Amino acid sequence: MNDHAIVSLVGAGPGDPGLITVAGAACIGAADVIIYDRLANPALLRHARPEAELIYAGKLPDRHTLAQEQINALLVARARDGKRVVRLKGGDPFVFGRGGEEAEALRAAGVPFEIVPGVTSAIAAPAYAGIPVTHRALASSFAVVTGHEDPGKESSSIDWPYLARGVDTLVFLMGVGMLDEIARQLVSHGRPEATPAAVIEWGTLPRQRTVAGTLATIAAEARRAGVGSPAVTVVGEVARLRDELRWFDRRPLFGKRVLVTRTRQQASELAQALARQGAETIELPTIEIVPRVDAARLAHVITDLRTSAYGWCIFTSQNAVDLFIAHLREAGLDVRAFGRSRLAAIGPGTQAALARHGLRCDVVPSTYVAEGLLDALRGRVLRGQRVLLPRAEGARDTLPEGLTARGAAVEELTLYRADLPAQPDAEGLRSLRAGEIDILTFASSSSVRNLVRMLDGDLAPLRRALVAAIGPVTASAVRECGLMPGIVAETYTIEGLVQALVKAAGNGPAV
Ligand code: SAH
Repeated sequence: MNDHAIVSLVGAGPGDPGLITVAGAACIGAADVIIYDRLANPALLRHARPEAELIYAGKLPDRHTLAQEQINALLVARARDGKRVVRLKGGDPFVFGRGGEEAEALRAAGVPFEIVPGVTSAIAAPAYAGIPVTHRALASSFAVVTGHEDPGKESSSIDWPYLARGVDTLVFLMGVGMLDEIARQLVSHGRPEATPAAVIEWGTLPRQRTVAGTLATIAAEARRAGVGSPAVTVVGEVARLRDELRWFDRRPLFGKRVLVTRTRQQASELAQALARQGAETIELPTIEIVPRVDAARLAHVITDLRTSAYGWCIFTSQNAVDLFIAHLREAGLDVRAFGRSRLAAIGPGTQAALARHGLRCDVVPSTYVAEGLLDALRGRVLRGQRVLLPRAEGARDTLPEGLTARGAAVEELTLYRADLPAQPDAEGLRSLRAGEIDILTFASSSSVRNLVRMLDGDLAPLRRALVAAIGPVTASAVRECGLMPGIVAETYTIEGLVQALVKAAGNGPAV
């Protein structure tokens, strides 16, 4: 074993990928091997290094013991190979996760280990349902109890009489199927039948469902709703606070499944903004940016740029900004090459991309389309002035034509093509075809056209969903493809698109 070989038993949190700890995320980022459970959100693996070995240890219920032994052996073996191993477990590793047994196995084998606690579903799932496990007026103690054990069995390790009367809030993990017996035990040992109770399935995730009732009704209610694993059950006076405190499932887009069609690299901003409004996002990138530039022409443009031949450089996409500046770097230059040229951006996204490179825009229109930019440049781009327009192949002619009509000498520089992804995202496509999507979002015309191409022109899966477009240009592309844009953003930005969805959902103010 070398110096850095260690096994970290890391709590992944209850589901919401934001609920991993800072230490847990750092462990994942440094790991050589990650062995993860069914209940650890696979989205957390995005923190992992690309070369990390990822091993799924989702256990088959009927092979519990054997699987656990295999996991222990695997942890020991990989650590002995000198690896940094992360054992990623749902919730907290020491709350019913068999983390204790794994630590014992590591100790017995002489393998160094550490424990990174996590946010347990026992507290987090109720919290996301609006139920505090303690409350000054209602509960001064809580217990986390296994629901797995058959409460009817002779020698129960659970002290039912004490739980029924001595602890205010009870949180049962595992075994939603045991609810009848659990309720029966509690009532028979003196907990009133009218005690409020709630079952929370897939807590902290967009698919969270909560069923409320009392000890008398909760088992039947859960059965009627078809609640399954994973779920926690809260019993106690605090469960009635949900009526007042529920927040997560009140978010405007809660329960909506929203398709994000941007490039993989650009998807996260939109996905995160949608998630903050409660939506479940499904990514299906429809665009892959393929850089493509004529080297000789690029060299000329750069020479002219350095001699301040261009009065204006106009950017109409973030990709154009990033690619153009990458080309400057390759040529051994930096942003000083823009010299005295003035800079214009089509909207705040492009403006922010320029700002990331330390560049301030001279002009950003108030409506973020080519027509808006033309308006904003009126009287500023002068007759005879040379204008550089670095952009995508096949972009609209509105801008070059409008500026040319005013006597400017417009020079386009093609930097990339917005292609179909070479490898379509199979899961996203499956979800769309299966009719699981409620809302489609489009942030550009090419994303609409490419999605239709990805479906080989079959519009049926798209007709079932509400279509949301970032602005009027994208909305007309939607119409040209034979679809109806049900929502068009008023402000043509990602934020504007999310706001439009929230407004359409009509469920109150944005968070
Ligand atoms: N160590 C975990 C619990 C592991 S036992 C923790 O601290 O959360 C597995 C049980 O946890 C499930 O049967 C279920 O009762 C509960 N559980 C885990 N994730 C859950 C979630 N997102 N929502 C509801 N219950 C969950």
